[in-house]
Amino acid sequence: MKVILDTLTKKFGNSTAVDKISLEIESGEFVAFLGPSGCGKTTTLLMTAGIYKPDGGHIFFGDRDVTTLQPKDRNIGMVFQSYALYPHMTVFENISFSMKLKKASKQEMEKETAEVAEMLGIGNLLHRKPGELSGGQQQRVALGRALIKKPELLLFDEPLSNLDARLRITMRSEIKRLQKELGITCIYVTHDQVEAMTMADRVAVIKDGVLQSYRPPLELHEHPRTLFIGQFVGNPPMNIWQGSLIDKADMSCVKMSDGSLLRISRKRTPQPMPADLTVGIRPEDIEILSEESEDAASAVVSLVEPLGRDNLLQCRCGEQEIVLLADPRSGIRPGQKVFFRPDPNAWQFFDAQTEQSLL
Ligand code: ATP
Repeated sequence: MKVILDTLTKKFGNSTAVDKISLEIESGEFVAFLGPSGCGKTTTLLMTAGIYKPDGGHIFFGDRDVTTLQPKDRNIGMVFQSYALYPHMTVFENISFSMKLKKASKQEMEKETAEVAEMLGIGNLLHRKPGELSGGQQQRVALGRALIKKPELLLFDEPLSNLDARLRITMRSEIKRLQKELGITCIYVTHDQVEAMTMADRVAVIKDGVLQSYRPPLELHEHPRTLFIGQFVGNPPMNIWQGSLIDKADMSCVKMSDGSLLRISRKRTPQPMPADLTVGIRPEDIEILSEESEDAASAVVSLVEPLGRDNLLQCRCGEQEIVLLADPRSGIRPGQKVFFRPDPNAWQFFDAQTEQSLL
């Protein structure tokens, strides 16, 4: 089912939590709402669910305007961070609860609950109570309870936040697999950019109630439209500083505060070149060299943080702080001088005033 949010707005007192958000979600698409705490993700989701009434705008499910419909009349399934299971009921009773309300026959309830539980790998837990389950199992029950209604739209609000890191990764791929298998349209609220980037077909980045960007994950990463997106998406975050560019006859360069010049690909040079700009380069787009080179800059390592596959190096280059990634086998230590060369094709440039991308 296609979902359209049209200039959706929500106010709490004098503050606008959601400010004219418009976006379309194709049938069967998985969309993540991504943004920092308090940006309006959950409020937008709750309006889509019918739990909050918008102060402006409309919501369409397919051709139907559902803006004023009650949640129960919207044919949606919801899964929250707090699994919200009934503690005194068994897994079977929790999953089949909505069928019981609809007075389905015992036979029907048994058949459909078994099917859903099987699909979620909890077929052997139907007689247990939520208190006897792990966090991951409880979240599967919550998902089962949403799926048994055969919803046309699944809404998730930070569903994996209470799980440990390993289980989060497993559940991420499981939710995605199920969603694709069942072909259900899905909105997934998260402040975790890795979750959004790995699961979603498109990511809606929201800041201060305003939709900043709505694009596939890779585009968001490679062509951030604003400085906020550049910094928010990507881990470790993009290196950012107030820059000056030097335009020479044969090449353009970013001037570092230690005086060194780093090349920018001509295709990448913003035209016209503004006086006041912010430059950005992601740590993974910077090569560390084993020796000095005229197209490299130098920095002094202040901190080394092992990340597993890489070591994260906090460095100082003149007055600029910069983060680099190094092979742990390189043995780079604090206090050491390193030489680095950014990929000339990977620079980002933003207007220092408007913070809009100049590319
Ligand atoms: P989080 O990731 O922390 O859940 P969020 O992006 O989902 O954040 P919302 O919960 O949508 O953010 O909140 C958006 C803004 O609206 C916040 O400033 C919040 O304080 C405010 N807000 C949300 N619900 C209410 C409410 N019921 N009454 C008053 N203000 C609210």
